[in-house]
Order: sequence, then structure tokens, then C-alpha cells
Amino acid sequence: MIQTINLQKKYTTDEVETTALNRVNLEINDGEFVAIMGPSGCGKSTLLNILGLLDNPTAGEFYFQGQNVAQYNERQRADLRKTSIGFVFQSFNLIEELTVYENIELPLIYQKLSSTEINYRVTTALERLQIAHRGQHFPQQLSGGQQQRVAIARSIVCSPQIILADEPTGNLDSATGQEVMNLLAELNESGTTIIMVTHSPTDAEYSRRIIRLFDGEVITENTKKPAYAKE
Ligand code: ADP
Ligand code: ADP
Repeated sequence: MIQTINLQKKYTTDEVETTALNRVNLEINDGEFVAIMGPSGCGKSTLLNILGLLDNPTAGEFYFQGQNVAQYNERQRADLRKTSIGFVFQSFNLIEELTVYENIELPLIYQKLSSTEINYRVTTALERLQIAHRGQHFPQQLSGGQQQRVAIARSIVCSPQIILADEPTGNLDSATGQEVMNLLAELNESGTTIIMVTHSPTDAEYSRRIIRLFDGEVITENTKKPAYAKE
């Protein structure tokens, strides 16, 4: 589903060139749960931004569901992004002026769907994340864990094949963080591909593969059984 060949990303700021990613060769198949780890500044966010079609690589090939998207322009990337990818962030990125229901509805507004279909999808996502009773509340009336549930509900309303999560438990206490990880694991069990950047070894335990970056290069790829897998 995702393949990169010699992916490279360079930034130039005030004539200083930084190679954020170099020679990154990855294959991520449908249904995988992958954790990307590594020290600060090693290129994790850069990689997630490229995999999430938010930014282009400087060089190399990038195949997304069979299409070579490396040189797509912003418009083409946005079209593909809206229907294929859900995003979950450390800071939730909810819109404070909108209710929970309206936040979840947002990605659907831009699609030509009937109001019945929109209502059905939002309601289903609210129920799935067990926040149905919170629909008319505003984000600031919710705990951090509940806000992250809203963000996950928003990420799944378009039925994306992939969820990209950037430090999804970074602002949560450990118990709440594990609840959020269990939700991501459930989504993965039902077929959604999950690619997650994390510093947390506990979170990484939920994945089935850890890709480690160092100075912009992949140094190891471990495949293992998820912690919750039955023997
Ligand atoms: P990580 O997410 O692992 O902390 P990043 O992908 O944010 O790493 O950064 C990788 C490298 O690229 C770092 O050296 C960082 O300073 C640099 N970098 C990231 N974004 C930019 C940018 N927009 N402009 C210039 N340099 C950047
Ligand atoms: P947690 O312990 O899960 O972080 P809190 O202690 O912040 O949650 O809140 C406990 C409960 O009260 C949660 O269900 C939360 O959504 C609710 N709550 C917290 N603050 C408000 C508020 N300002 N308005 C309405 N409900 C709130």
C-alpha cells in the first residue's frame, strides 16, 4: 500500500541545508500497525508528514496505493488525503468553538453526502468511541482522554484506510493513554492501517513493527507480535 524508494527530504533555511531524511526505503502493507521511533530531530515528523501527503519529498519515489505521488501538487495531495487518511495528533487539534458533534462532522462537510448519511456516520463514530453523550459539549468541557476520542472519531468518519498518529498519548496520563492505544488497536484489528510516531515504549508495544530512525535514516525494522495478541 505504501512504498518509498530512496526517499530524501532536505530543508534549506538561511542557506543552511539539513537532510531530514536520507535513503529511506520502506514498505508498509494494508492492515499493518507500525510504530516509528527514534531520538528528537531524527526525522520522524518529516516522515509522517510525507507519508500523510502533507509534504513532498525532495527526491526519491513514493507510492501510495499504487500511485506515484512523490511530485503531486498540494491540490492532488489534498484530494487523496481527505479520502484515504485520518490524522490523530498529540494536541488533539480540535476546534474549540465547535461542539464535539461538529468537530467530527467537519471532514464530511466537504464531501457530497446527504445530511442523513452525515448524521449516521457521525453518530456511529460517537458511539464507537463511547462519547455519544458528549456530542453537544465543547472540547474544553472534556478530559484529555475524551478529547482524544473525539479526535479519533473525527479521523474515522471518512472511513480512511490509514490512520497516522503523531504521539497520540503524549498529553495523556498513562491509564488514559492506554485506553487510547486500545482504541487504535481495535481499529487496526478491524482492518485500518496504523502508522504512529511515538517516544513511548509502552505505546510501541501495541504495534507489530517498529521502524527506528537515526539522523534521517532507518536503522532497524523489528517485526514482533503485538502485546495484546493471543497465544
Ligand atoms: P523529529 O520529528 O524526529 O523530532 P523532525 O522531522 O521534526 O524530527 O526534524 C528532522 C530534522 O529536520 C531536524 O534537524 C529539524 O531541525 C529539521 N527540520 C524539520 N522541519 C524543518 C523545517 N521546516 N525547516 C528546516 N529544518 C527542519
Ligand atoms: P479525567 O479524570 O478523565 O481527566 P476530569 O477529572 O477532567 O477527567 O473530569 C471528570 C469528568 O468531568 C469527565 O467526564 C469530564 O468530561 C467532565 N468534565 C470535566 N470538566 C468539565 C467541564 N468544564 N464541563 C463539563 N464536564 C466536565
